[in-house]
Amino acid sequence: MMDHDVVVIGGGPAGLALACSLRGTGLRIAVVERQPADVLANPPSDGREIALTHRAVRLLQEMGAWQHLDPAMIAPLRAARVLNGRSPFALSFDPAGGAQDWLGQLVPNHHLRRALYRTAFEAGDGPAGLELVAGVAVDRVRTGLAAARVTLADGRELRSRLLVAADSRFSKVREQLGITASINRLGRSMMVCRVAHDRDHGGVATEWFDHGQTIALLPLPGRTSSIVLTLPAGEIERIASLDRAALGAELTMRSAGWLGRCTVVEDPHVYPLATTFAQHFAATRAALIGDAAVGMHPVTAHGFNLGLQGQATLARLIREAVSAGRDIASALLLRRYEAAHRLATRPLYTGTNLLVRLYTDDRPLAGVARHAVLRAGARLPLARQLISRSLMQR
Ligand SMILES: Cc1cc2nc3c(=O)[nH]c(=O)nc-3n(C[C@H](O)[C@H](O)[C@H](O)COP(=O)(O)OP(=O)(O)OC[C@H]3O[C@@H](n4cnc5c(N)ncnc54)[C@H](O)[C@@H]3O)c2cc1C
Repeated sequence: MMDHDVVVIGGGPAGLALACSLRGTGLRIAVVERQPADVLANPPSDGREIALTHRAVRLLQEMGAWQHLDPAMIAPLRAARVLNGRSPFALSFDPAGGAQDWLGQLVPNHHLRRALYRTAFEAGDGPAGLELVAGVAVDRVRTGLAAARVTLADGRELRSRLLVAADSRFSKVREQLGITASINRLGRSMMVCRVAHDRDHGGVATEWFDHGQTIALLPLPGRTSSIVLTLPAGEIERIASLDRAALGAELTMRSAGWLGRCTVVEDPHVYPLATTFAQHFAATRAALIGDAAVGMHPVTAHGFNLGLQGQATLARLIREAVSAGRDIASALLLRRYEAAHRLATRPLYTGTNLLVRLYTDDRPLAGVARHAVLRAGARLPLARQLISRSLMQR
């Protein structure tokens, strides 16, 4: 039996971020991750480009992870535009601070994960109090008033004062804690693919809701972009299996010449779309963070941003409890975490799902409604500014 103060299940970006945020507290922390340590230290590309808000960048800087990112891999998002069908009208979002400002910063997910791993386990003051239990999955968890117990697939047992589930949107730990979640499988998949192209993107992201498809063009360094295509699952599988030349031609055609001719520079990755929201973010001696708490639709690029915010809230409450000599997993502390994180996530989760419904509805009336929403947005500069601010989350 290994004793810890905190056991974090899942060494994804949310779990690693919490481990970073708790450095220096003197707590004995274990991160359990089923992938081997060398994969965590050098994760392969998963094709995701994470658009980070101002707040997320600040949190990453404060925990020391931003400094571990290769600056050549960071691409500023200078503006965004939303297009509806063949209409020439575009709703634009610009940063509030003028030309030098940015809406977000795009960072490849695997670079983010590598930076968080380095910060947690390799950086400066060393891994004191922090242990990585890698290459083994969690099999079972039980929590009680005195302690939480975690049984690993190899039979080892860990006991802790607080258990944190960061094991993805289909969290098994959440299930074992008896917490239900609303899970919406959308029947559509998202294909992400890095391309080089002829035209300059100018640092502008384009989200285009066309008949039968949604396509986003995310500006990366130089003349490269990430194309994010959403279609019914079977159609995406067909397109993703094309050879690179045929895929480039398909993406050039589907992006309607916005970027000129596209050449595929990295094989595509496919993500079946599902959104999830846990009924509770806490149970006796346990908390949910990251996608295990809220699995956002990627279209508004909020998932990891909210995950970062949630772990920061939990870490702040734990730090306060440590300083005051109080229990780090008291019912009051966990209730405060749940209330704060619900307030931060529920409106965005609901709003994003409404947006997705409106923009994936191919009936003619929905097209008219979309157009009306975009026009109304353009006529209300204040609303546009509010949306820009919420995108940027200062
Ligand atoms: C295409 C795409 C684009 C996106 N773009 C953005 C964006 O622009 N901005 C943004 O903010 N977010 C974005 N997101 C969302 C973001 O990627 C997720 O919110 C984030 O990865 C969630 O991190 P997590 O650590 O909670 O979960 P995960 O990344 O799912 O990690 C969970 C970890 O738990 C481990 N695990 C699972 N079960 C066990 C077990 N039983 N035992 C041990 N370990 C276990 C897994 O191996 C994994 O490492 C995007 C998502 C997608 C799919």
